[in-house]
Amino acid sequence: MALVRCPDCGKEVSTRASSCPNCGGPVAAEENKDKEIKVITEHTSKSLKGQSCLSGVLFLLGVLFIVVGIPERYRISGASLDRDAPDMLSMGFWMVLGSFVWHTIIRISIWWHHE
Ligand SMILES: [Zn+2]
Repeated sequence: MALVRCPDCGKEVSTRASSCPNCGGPVAAEENKDKEIKVITEHTSKSLKGQSCLSGVLFLLGVLFIVVGIPERYRISGASLDRDAPDMLSMGFWMVLGSFVWHTIIRISIWWHHE
């Protein structure tokens, strides 16, 4: 059984007690609750940070596809049309758009968790 100091009167109180027997102020229960909330918040922010990073990677990949896809598109339209060539330009466009939507969803959920 651990003892904690009461934040109100400074007397040592058991961590099992939800309130101080001396002054009646809330002690351990309140502290544990705060800790629990903090752990949950850290956990969600960690996973959201990871997702935010992934959406950034998707965005960069999309930009790369567009950069590669533009001259590819010119080459195809300039010469005979090769229908089997991958349309990197539109793929890149969808990747950039998808990463934007994803990023917005992450932003909203971060805002939601902070409320
Ligand atoms: Zn007290």
